[in-house]
Amino acid sequence: MGKTLVVGAGGVSHAAVHKMAMNSDIFTEITLASRTKAKCDAIAASVKERTGVTIQTAALDAMDVAATVALIKETGAEILVNLALPYQDLKLMDACLEAGCHYLDTANYEPEDVAKFEYHWQWAYQDKFKEAGLTAILGSGFDPGVTSVFATWLKKHKLATIRQIDVLDANGGSNDQAFATNFNPEINLREVLAEARHWENGAWQVTPAMTHKVEFDFPGIGPKNMYLMYHEELESLSAHFPEIERARFWMTFGDAYIMHAKVLENVGMTRIDPVMHDGKEIIPIQFLKTLLPDPGTLAEETKGKACIGDIATGQAKDGSGEKTYYIYNICDHEECFREVGSQAVSYTTGVPAMIGAAQVLKGNWVEPGVWNMEQLDPDDFMDMLNNHGLPWQVHELDGPVSF
Ligand code: NDP
Repeated sequence: MGKTLVVGAGGVSHAAVHKMAMNSDIFTEITLASRTKAKCDAIAASVKERTGVTIQTAALDAMDVAATVALIKETGAEILVNLALPYQDLKLMDACLEAGCHYLDTANYEPEDVAKFEYHWQWAYQDKFKEAGLTAILGSGFDPGVTSVFATWLKKHKLATIRQIDVLDANGGSNDQAFATNFNPEINLREVLAEARHWENGAWQVTPAMTHKVEFDFPGIGPKNMYLMYHEELESLSAHFPEIERARFWMTFGDAYIMHAKVLENVGMTRIDPVMHDGKEIIPIQFLKTLLPDPGTLAEETKGKACIGDIATGQAKDGSGEKTYYIYNICDHEECFREVGSQAVSYTTGVPAMIGAAQVLKGNWVEPGVWNMEQLDPDDFMDMLNNHGLPWQVHELDGPVSF
């Protein structure tokens, strides 16, 4: 159905590009471009071996708008799928506007020198995309991404309104590393060490990072400690579903992860400002990234399951009063590795990126403008989750969450 340009060749890209190649009726031609072409070539070789599909590769600095415009034109891409880092979002959106190409990403823009991710920078592109007749889809990973589609599906089929929503993200996977992050270490640590914010009664409530802990019994995993955190879908869900009184995000962390993260923070290794070292400027968190394992290389040794979903409470559509639903996916690290050579965190992000891009190429999500996932029709996306490796379940709970 369409030509696709994927930018970025890390863990998420590995999973997404394999899944695109497995759907070559939709993704008729795929080009993978990134800063380091050798990484694109390695993914292309794995795709060829696993699926028989040939993809093109190219070197690209995504901060170079002219080079991206030239590559979009050369490949004839109808959609650019941004699986690089949040720092590149705006430059890639600029390139799409100039070259006349749809855009999709999995993480919202964040300036490199301020650890603050907010949508206002990308929402400011609304009129430009509308005027150009182009579509930009923001945050088509799992969280953000599927968690917003889950909420929209509940609103379409089960709940007339959502009074409160909790997004619960559990990674029950383990590997042999003393400390490793499950996606890009720099982005992961910036996110985890940021102060916790949740939406309640029309305002952001702020608490220090990693201070609010609750034990929850996750389906397929068992009891785990989860921590209140800020996450970007809280901003878009509370903006687009204004009836929401409380929206919170929780993520599980083991004690060893928290201890390492705190020590690294205390000694200054997670600083994002430049410091002088041996007469040379370095940014500590970027140096730390160089030392930590590349999450993509941990796929083979990671075992266990991830479970991500929403618990939402609101008035039932059928008038039967207030109802609470838990909607979630369980994903097995080893099964992901067997299928595409990825661990579950890359897989649960890469598959929704493929499905979101498929929605654009199939013509389901082509309204010009800049859209978050909860603003779009969920049904075909939800069917594709079931058919492409991320089956979901929905269960009614006895009542609202007690934590
Ligand atoms: P990786 O660090 O593994 O991969 C990032 C890739 O982007 C690397 O190949 C890197 O190149 C490339 N890149 C970085 N800067 C540039 C540039 N200027 N030009 C071209 N390429 C560049 O990250 P992940 O795969 O773990 O994560 C990818 C994205 O997915 C991130 O934005 C992350 O926040 C997001 N994410 C979203 C989730 C969700 O559920 N919504 C969950 C997990 C991640 P090089 O190899 O040369 O360094």
